[in-house]
Amino acid sequence: MSDLFEAKVNDFMAKIIAKNPGEAEYHQAVQEVTESLMPFIEENPVYSHAKILERIAEPERVIMFRVPWLDDQGNIQINRGYRVEMNSAIGPYKGGLRFHPTVNLGILKFLAFEQVFKNSLTTLPMGGGKGGSDFDPKGKSDNEVMRFCQSFMTELSRHIGPDTDVPAGDIGVGGREIGYLFGQYKRIRNEFTGVLTGKAIEWGGSLIRPEATGYGAVYFAQEMLKTQGDNLKGKVCAISGSGNVAQYATEKILQLGGKVVTLSDSAGFIYDEGGITEDKLKFVMELKNIKRGRIKEYADKYGVDYVAGKTPWSVKCDLAFPCATQNEINEDDAKTLVNNGCIAVSEGANMPSTPEAAEAFVKAQILYGPGKAANAGGVAVSGLEMTQNSMRLPWTRDEVDDRLQQIMTSIHDTCVKFGKDNSGFINYINGANIGGYIKVADSMIAQGVV
Ligand code: NDP
Repeated sequence: MSDLFEAKVNDFMAKIIAKNPGEAEYHQAVQEVTESLMPFIEENPVYSHAKILERIAEPERVIMFRVPWLDDQGNIQINRGYRVEMNSAIGPYKGGLRFHPTVNLGILKFLAFEQVFKNSLTTLPMGGGKGGSDFDPKGKSDNEVMRFCQSFMTELSRHIGPDTDVPAGDIGVGGREIGYLFGQYKRIRNEFTGVLTGKAIEWGGSLIRPEATGYGAVYFAQEMLKTQGDNLKGKVCAISGSGNVAQYATEKILQLGGKVVTLSDSAGFIYDEGGITEDKLKFVMELKNIKRGRIKEYADKYGVDYVAGKTPWSVKCDLAFPCATQNEINEDDAKTLVNNGCIAVSEGANMPSTPEAAEAFVKAQILYGPGKAANAGGVAVSGLEMTQNSMRLPWTRDEVDDRLQQIMTSIHDTCVKFGKDNSGFINYINGANIGGYIKVADSMIAQGVV
């Protein structure tokens, strides 16, 4: 970046930091996008005159609320709930709910900000939002989770609706939580509508929604490999996380002939050199989704290595799929991956690479698909779930999967269009940021100063 652009980015970021103190993840997300966009905006002054970047970085609305609930001992517990309604220029706010003790306003603003660009990339009419709570579902009984969800939705229901804001799942919010949240919304509003996505198939869900983020990240990796005449067959893959995204990334990699050797959770990772088979994956799904156990139990059962307290990036692999959480790959991890011969990183999680790690990937010119492009398959199928709800007509599995693949290919094409430099290198960060920005920015200009 030239000195001029750097000075402009620094000036812009100084204002963002002053206005949003203590929100490190939000600053990080805005900085990355600003660095990509500044040269483009300077070339197209219509956007700077309309102050689009300044407006995009200011949420349209932030809702914060008390969530009181009774635990199984009859004690009152109090959590904090949030919904960040970031941008509705191209459609109703759309984005997941995260239940995790680390949730705070800065994390949700970063996620909502990313979501604006991601949703635009999908080509579907969805604005950006994100919400959640510092509630920790781990170790809670089903009844406690239900009471929490009911209390959370009692307040949230005033602010959402199928044409206003349509939440979905994220970390700590899976099928069980969506069920409790939907039940309470329906009861309060006396409406059976598509107000949430990620619903079960029997009551308005879409086939392939649970699979969509993980599958999409693998489809995106496949598209990136294609640009080098390569594919997934025989590739050794390191995956982090063992939740929704990690599980279905594993499933799709196996279907496409790759080999997955790691999975993790917040306590450590397993290394299965022989590869995770379909049967072993079934065990993981049961362990994580039903028994709600720890990934160490996989190592105990199959007699493979378990490394406590570490992430899997020291393992030699061809492809890496970070599918756990933000900032889980630091600069050293990125350099280790590159030195070990990793040729592609496709981010299932949101912002899993620190800025220094992302820079290391770009410098090494490996195929690096940032989350807002690579993990957009989840929200894309959420968008398809909304369409099916509006039509009151479900699509088949193949139909949804075909559309998902088309959308991932189209996102990849957009990244190439806006991210390919003169040397032929595809900078997917720039491609995703600029490609996602244009539609939102043009819509905001068309809609006036609102
Ligand atoms: P889940 O709750 O199903 O799984 C999360 C996984 O990540 C678990 O294995 C969890 O381990 C691990 N994890 C969570 N926090 C940390 C942490 N601080 N350090 C290490 N490991 C951690 O969530 P999802 O699979 O849905 O989400 C994973 C990522 O994908 C998130 O970044 C999310 O924003 C992103 N994403 C999800 C989408 C979706 O459709 N679900 C869509 C797009 C992006 P543990 O059980 O020990 O906490």
